[in-house]
Amino acid sequence: MQALTGSDSFNDKIKAIRQLVFTTCFCSPKTSHHFIAPLNIIYSSFTLKRNNFRKKRIIIMNAKKLITGFLVLLSISVTAQNANSTYDQHDLFTPNFYPSSVNEYRAADGEPGPKYWTNKASYKIAANFDDVKDEISGSVTITYTNNSPEAMPFLWLYLDQNLYNLNSRGQAKTPAMRRSRYGDVNSKFEGGFDIKSVKLVSTGKGVPASVNITNVISETRMQLRLPVPVKANGGTVSFKIDYSFLIPKYGSDRTGILDTKNGKIYAIAQWYPRMCVFDDVEGWNTLPYLGAGEFYLDYGDYDYTITAPAKELIVGSGELQNPQEVLTPTQVKRLAAARQSDKTVMIRTADEVTDPASRPQKEKLTWHFKLNNARDVSWAASTAFIWDAARMNFPSGRKGLAMSVYPIESAGDSAWGRATEYTKGSIENYSKRWYEYPYNTATNVASNVSGMEYPSIVFCGYKARGRGLFGVTDHEFGHTWFPMVVGSNERKYGWMDEGFNTFINSLAEEDFNNGEYKGRSGNQLSRYKYMFSDKSETIMSEPDALKESNIGLALYSKPAYALSLLRDEIMGPKLFDYAFQTYIKRWAYKHPTPWDFFRTIENAGGEDLGWFWKGMFIDNYKLDQAITSVKYVNGDSTQPALVTIENLDRMAMPVYLQYETLSGKKGMVKIPVEIWQNGSTWIQKLNTTESLKSVTIDPEHIFPDINFDNNTWTAN
Ligand SMILES: [Zn+2]
Repeated sequence: MQALTGSDSFNDKIKAIRQLVFTTCFCSPKTSHHFIAPLNIIYSSFTLKRNNFRKKRIIIMNAKKLITGFLVLLSISVTAQNANSTYDQHDLFTPNFYPSSVNEYRAADGEPGPKYWTNKASYKIAANFDDVKDEISGSVTITYTNNSPEAMPFLWLYLDQNLYNLNSRGQAKTPAMRRSRYGDVNSKFEGGFDIKSVKLVSTGKGVPASVNITNVISETRMQLRLPVPVKANGGTVSFKIDYSFLIPKYGSDRTGILDTKNGKIYAIAQWYPRMCVFDDVEGWNTLPYLGAGEFYLDYGDYDYTITAPAKELIVGSGELQNPQEVLTPTQVKRLAAARQSDKTVMIRTADEVTDPASRPQKEKLTWHFKLNNARDVSWAASTAFIWDAARMNFPSGRKGLAMSVYPIESAGDSAWGRATEYTKGSIENYSKRWYEYPYNTATNVASNVSGMEYPSIVFCGYKARGRGLFGVTDHEFGHTWFPMVVGSNERKYGWMDEGFNTFINSLAEEDFNNGEYKGRSGNQLSRYKYMFSDKSETIMSEPDALKESNIGLALYSKPAYALSLLRDEIMGPKLFDYAFQTYIKRWAYKHPTPWDFFRTIENAGGEDLGWFWKGMFIDNYKLDQAITSVKYVNGDSTQPALVTIENLDRMAMPVYLQYETLSGKKGMVKIPVEIWQNGSTWIQKLNTTESLKSVTIDPEHIFPDINFDNNTWTAN
């Protein structure tokens, strides 16, 4: 889902995220490995060129030997604690960062353990779509495989539509005095699932067939009490649920109905009862659907049909199985042409939308889609859709089809006329950078949902255009990797999909069309003050337990900024990118916890980062670095300068120290975070031979220092 908080528009928000993420840094990616060295007194000038690097490094190493003895003498003063500092190195650099030991399901290095398992949920759905009553009715047959080591006497399912019941907990939680994206306190809409029957269909040994299963509906959840438990280690059960629901016009910005000139656009999601996840961490995950918290789902195979009036054009997750039955011969031909074209091909033009000949002349049609190894399916229907498509090319040589559907109101090259180009660009880029896109189709739907992701289909705001449309398209398809491929628990740890996705979006913006929509840098300092203010909440907060106005910060921009910092300044892209790819590969189609992520980054990246996770993700520690004095060895300015820096707040970070001498020579020293392991005061030696004019900590605001007033020392 896209970040929208308070009254900020999405464009402003995404711009802010980008600006946060895109700090210009002194350190080119190729030289950032110098953080590995414990003592690093490096750069003699900003213009240090790469080919000079090795030579300078030798000089520096010699210099290190000379100054080692000197620093030993200083050690008495550097371990002193500033009385004004709240910093505690033993709190930040604790050896006991991980809350629990690992087991056979989850390994110490962050990968799935030897006995790791996930359960499988496959769905066969036959639905009728009524565009007069705005109703979905039909049946779903769920085949559930229990790979856990425990037998299951009962199952839990999600009935997400029950949020749109006036008695739901989510409705009760809707604020009285301000607008919420997740619900409307004045809503009169009485929605929710009407569960007509739940019957066993499996005839495993000793399992009766076609008997009613006792079901107990608890708000947005339903418990099924089975006549015979599902066996452990691979037992299966199959059951059929007949159901219906009225489609909400505004469904928490994730499903809805938009009125357009040529008819309604239906964006259909959370449209069938879905299995809750049973995992090795919590057993059944049954947190209610309240609005803010998204979804946690198992993987399985989907085979679904939608029977609808023939005038409706339907797009859905996965691949259409019967194009000849539901499209015109012209459209089938154009789709074949699009599969061969990197340029967007029109499948149904704006002029054809109002031409009855652009639909088969029948009363009703049944659309048939399939998608395997996915965690959900969604679809959209409209009489108003313009439709275009283009080929996607994946690293393995496989091809796919990017498509967009939108009303006449959204047409044109400054708007949705480029939506397919954006879809193709985003997906091809992420496939190259991180992990190949797993599906064969990707459909971008213009709707009244401002931005929401589902496997191989996304809903984006029909008014989005230009940079905003690129941003939301890139974000929603970026969710393919988190949480569609890497299936983390969104309802508990929203940052593991939104934050990771916002982070990869920041790199995509540079990549797309030679940086056409590359972010501009802005005032970082005010953003850090906002990001680390007392009012902000921690990244490791449950989405439903966050203030709505803090969601964009805690789950999107702050984790994205933190990961950029880790990549560009602390680990370097070479180590970070490999570790991040390793995380995706290890946990594809599985359910990682935050600890699995932390362990994987540390193991594949070779760094102990407990201090970073603790200060940035688990707590909301602030950073305040300060210069308190500049002196010279023996009080002689022709000898090296001694700069005293202080760490005044609870977070620690590397220190980037820029200085200028009286004659105008400039230098930059990058000091690793380890200097803060021994206290809140550090004396940094600069190998200068004349008086200093000024010294500044982090002039480019790369680190989240919230108080810049104490970052500069100037000679009197
Ligand atoms: Zn999102």
